[in-house]
Amino acid sequence: MFNFESSMDACFTAFDKNGDGKLDIDEFRLIARALFRNDKGKIYSLEEDKLNEVFKVFDQNQDGFIDKEEFLFCWNHWIKIIVRPISVFLIVDVQNDFISGTLNISNCSAQQNGLDVIEPINRLLENVDFDAVFYSLDWHPSDHVSFIDNIKQRPVHSTSPISAENAQTYDTVIFAGPPPMKQRLWPRHCVQDTWGSELHKELKMLDNSIKVYKGTNPEVDSYSVFWDNKKLTDTTLCAQLRIKNATDIYICGLAYDVCVGATAVDALAIGYRTILLDDCSRGVDLLDIEKTKNTVIKNDGVIVNSDQVKAMVEGRDRRPELGYKLAMELKANLML
Ligand SMILES: [Zn+2]
Repeated sequence: MFNFESSMDACFTAFDKNGDGKLDIDEFRLIARALFRNDKGKIYSLEEDKLNEVFKVFDQNQDGFIDKEEFLFCWNHWIKIIVRPISVFLIVDVQNDFISGTLNISNCSAQQNGLDVIEPINRLLENVDFDAVFYSLDWHPSDHVSFIDNIKQRPVHSTSPISAENAQTYDTVIFAGPPPMKQRLWPRHCVQDTWGSELHKELKMLDNSIKVYKGTNPEVDSYSVFWDNKKLTDTTLCAQLRIKNATDIYICGLAYDVCVGATAVDALAIGYRTILLDDCSRGVDLLDIEKTKNTVIKNDGVIVNSDQVKAMVEGRDRRPELGYKLAMELKANLML
């Protein structure tokens, strides 16, 4: 098998099987076969139509070949990243209130235990050399719009399916705004500087890790670690990821179908190669967890268990879905 640690020239020559100084689709297919493998040498297949799409991204003059100049771009912006990704670990809301406090997810319909995520997350923090580690915290002021006991603080819109008087925990109402705003009502949780908002004491904290606070605006909820639900303001995460030149984001935590899912969807929308860690996440509702997984896969994200992460971060397990995602991002940027 070809070793991608060698130079661009060596790679080009190795795959230019007929020696005509350019790569055709068959030669490019061989690159994909060498590239997309796991750490045991098992080849992952990239579907033929996707392979063709990727080929066209790098065949910039669309002459049916990737010449050496075109390959330089492919090497620097695609192959290098697939082989040496810059991987960030984003641990979402592993806070007391979601595990044993006021919004204990084991009381929700899926009856999952938030405590389950701590051991696999800690193992990753000990064994995998991420380029950066982020912990997000749901961090609400006392008058936050999502708390059921604050329901009387803001007028409910005439189109709201449920009135303020009848609203129960987990119901969705529409507040008048303006503009009118849908809001699911939760028990009071993760109030700033209380025990409930602290990260669980058994969660390993790494030096040089970064905390990201969300949901700090009393008027708007924030499920995603990137943006509030109205996309009014972003957190510090976007800027921090740019500083780190992150390419890959591993996302996990609580709750799978709420904040973890919303964060993964945003990461994909922004253009990151996104990996959701199934065994490091626990959620609220089984059907919503399934929907979250489907959305991530449909948007070229990947869902894995924690035991697969180390090889992926080290570039020894290289997924075609993530390679395809990166190529489509490059295509979008080239068209700008
Ligand atoms: Zn919250």
